[in-house]
Amino acid sequence: MVLELVTVPCRADNYAFVLHDPQTGATAVVDVPDAAPIRATLAERGWGLTDILITHHHNDHIDGVAELVAETGAKTWGNGADAARLPHLDHDVRDGNSIRIGNETGQVIEVSGHTIGHIAFHFPQSAMAFTADSLMALGCGRLFEGTPAQMYDSLTRLAALPPETIIGSGHEYTASNAKFALTIEPGNAALISRSKAISAARAEGRPTVPSTLRDELETNPFLRAHIPTVKTHLGMDLAPDVEVFAEIRARKDRF
Ligand code: ZN
Ligand code: FE
Repeated sequence: MVLELVTVPCRADNYAFVLHDPQTGATAVVDVPDAAPIRATLAERGWGLTDILITHHHNDHIDGVAELVAETGAKTWGNGADAARLPHLDHDVRDGNSIRIGNETGQVIEVSGHTIGHIAFHFPQSAMAFTADSLMALGCGRLFEGTPAQMYDSLTRLAALPPETIIGSGHEYTASNAKFALTIEPGNAALISRSKAISAARAEGRPTVPSTLRDELETNPFLRAHIPTVKTHLGMDLAPDVEVFAEIRARKDRF
């Protein structure tokens, strides 16, 4: 059985994800930028919130958690190593630990880089991964706390998931990410066509999140530091992949 997935726009450009197991009625939300849009999504469908999955400590991912806990009694899951900066955690989950939503079991993947202690949630049966501000649609999160090597390691682990995996990331940044990606790979045909699709989607107000890992592998510059044509374009033919990644990240910071 596959979890039902509802992508919920919050604030200016954040996304939360509501997951529902139709067999048991269990319903989870990944990150809570604001309580109101999550509450509305649950009410529309008649779903009762059972679990709140927290990816990292930034306000735009946790501000609505306390309100939803107070209203629903939902249990929180997050990285206990970062507990001091997170809302109260009922379940301390770290890299490799399991998480259960109804009949579905997920795995926690530590993806430090954007913050130290950022985690992602992978649900293999449903082929979904929630990556927030680690792997993003055509991008990756800014390195506020971690090193390029930490983020590169995190992205490499996410890149190894099955390519059909749906990637739920935290923000609608894809249009500007596409402009940047084209400066790294102006000749990438898959990127050119994705970029057109993104412009069309945004012109109609449609979200570009979630994406699929397959699309990210083919077009996301932060997953392509090992590609010879990318290295050549940057004048870094002989550089290690992680240094190429660091250069791409530095260019994006200045873009
Ligand atoms: Zn963040
Ligand atoms: Fe964020």
